[in-house]
Amino acid sequence: MFKIQKWNPFSISLYIAATLVTLSQALTISSVPKPIDSSGWPYKFPAKEHCSKCGLCETTLVRHVTEACAFLDEGMSKIDRIPNYSSLTTQTLEHQTHQRGRHEFESERSVNNKKRADESRFGVMTRPMLLAKGIGLEDAQWTGCVTSIALSMLECNMVDAVVCIASSSSWSDPEPILARTTGDVLRGRGVKPALAPSLKVLDKVIDDPSIRRLLFCGVGCAVQAFRSIQHLLKLEQVYVLGTNCADNSPNPTAAQNFIQRGIGIDPSQVRGYEFMADFSVHVKVMGDTYIKKPYFCLPSDLAAQSIAPSCLACFDYTNALADVVIGYMAAPLSTGGNMDTSYQTLTIRNSRGEQMIQAALDRSRLQLGPEAIGYGASHEDLTLATVTADGIVQNMIGEDKPKPSMPLWLGNIIASFLAFIGPRGVDFARYSIDYHILRNYLHVLSYFGEEYALRSLPQYAWDIVNHYENTYDAFRILSDQVKAKSTRKKR
Ligand code: FAD
Ligand code: SF4
Ligand code: SF4
Repeated sequence: MFKIQKWNPFSISLYIAATLVTLSQALTISSVPKPIDSSGWPYKFPAKEHCSKCGLCETTLVRHVTEACAFLDEGMSKIDRIPNYSSLTTQTLEHQTHQRGRHEFESERSVNNKKRADESRFGVMTRPMLLAKGIGLEDAQWTGCVTSIALSMLECNMVDAVVCIASSSSWSDPEPILARTTGDVLRGRGVKPALAPSLKVLDKVIDDPSIRRLLFCGVGCAVQAFRSIQHLLKLEQVYVLGTNCADNSPNPTAAQNFIQRGIGIDPSQVRGYEFMADFSVHVKVMGDTYIKKPYFCLPSDLAAQSIAPSCLACFDYTNALADVVIGYMAAPLSTGGNMDTSYQTLTIRNSRGEQMIQAALDRSRLQLGPEAIGYGASHEDLTLATVTADGIVQNMIGEDKPKPSMPLWLGNIIASFLAFIGPRGVDFARYSIDYHILRNYLHVLSYFGEEYALRSLPQYAWDIVNHYENTYDAFRILSDQVKAKSTRKKR
């Protein structure tokens, strides 16, 4: 520090100046943002119990949490509504990412009605949703479309690294990795059904000048946070490969408890599970066999224990901001109905997405099937019946007594009946999307109140909520009951 030999006005000003410089240096050092320790999750994290553990707050990018987090401020509304908080942001995240919003086509005449209807639920797309299969991959969740695309992009040198979710312990324990080799990317195969801090590895990307082009794989909430900060990574090219996502478990233990209590089998025998379009949970067990149980036969209070609170406030099932999205809910099941032989769905949202798919086709790692279609069955009555009978919704209006589970024989008859006459293909996907949007709207109303619902829901979610409120008395009555009982926690 500067030392004063003799006090005079000049030396005093010099002293003050030197002190100010030292202070400002100290402040700069202490203002290096400090990642939040994961042991403090969720209450030390800004979104508290609604934090989806996307990983942003576990990096030095934590200082951008208010703009980036999908569960703070205007939350997921930023996908298709211009945020109020910043006069600098004049675009929605959908516009920033895809250069257009839903239904904003260059030529109105080129739009057929079906495509219009599809974008309101499935998001921006360059062409209608397709069916697809990965080629030649074993041990993937389904046929491995996600891993096939990621591998192809690394192999043909489109990217230097891939962010994906591996596991170093059990099937349910997610571990984000920065994959640099095809062997690393293969570690990402399989869904680990618990909140995964995908963005946690971004400090490694910032610190590694050899990474100029990146593929980020993730679910909707993580992709929203990633899109909000991707410009800070100063990369030459960024691609995002998303999956559909709903009702994730808060942690691996909850996923294992779901298997133990819900299905009645030893979790150590399991390799993965999915809620399938035949109204049953399919559990893949060792030896590649499946155990299937109708949704209706699960204990009525199990969902509340198995679903993370963030996923009850989530409106991005279809991953609106990814370049390509892989899922299964709109795909028909193969004969036998197993995941590893059935088609998956492929949604391409922009020209980067088209390049990603071309890379996988060029390397014969992906097979495209026909367009995903519906079969004309209405899904709305079933959506309404599912929402009103839902144990989580019943809790919101004080009807919280657990109900006895349906016997297996009856559940099997109902599941087979619904799979035969109920919504299938794209109609099943519409049913599933509407159900999750309505249930989650009621959760936000119940937990945070109407003002936060108005602020945080995307417009496409409001369109669906408004449709059911205006069309079905039963839903309007239900939402009034929820509003009356709302705890209205401040947001
Ligand atoms: P694989 O080639 O086996 O690759 C799996 C990919 O999943 C890898 O990229 C890996 O990074 C990623 N991954 C694994 N665990 C996680 C995790 N915890 N969080 C984020 N990414 C992870 N589709 C639907 O249609 N409806 C749903 O309700 C639905 N829910 C899902 C819930 C979660 C948590 C996830 C991760 C996916 C969900 N999906 C859903 C998508 C679907 O289950 C498959 O992921 C998708 O079809 C890809 O299968 P695949 O064989 O191509 O994947
Ligand atoms: Fe931070 Fe992500 Fe949690 Fe939001 S969801 S508080 S950004 S870790
Ligand atoms: Fe994130 Fe939504 Fe999936 Fe939950 S359901 S993990 S909040 S994308």
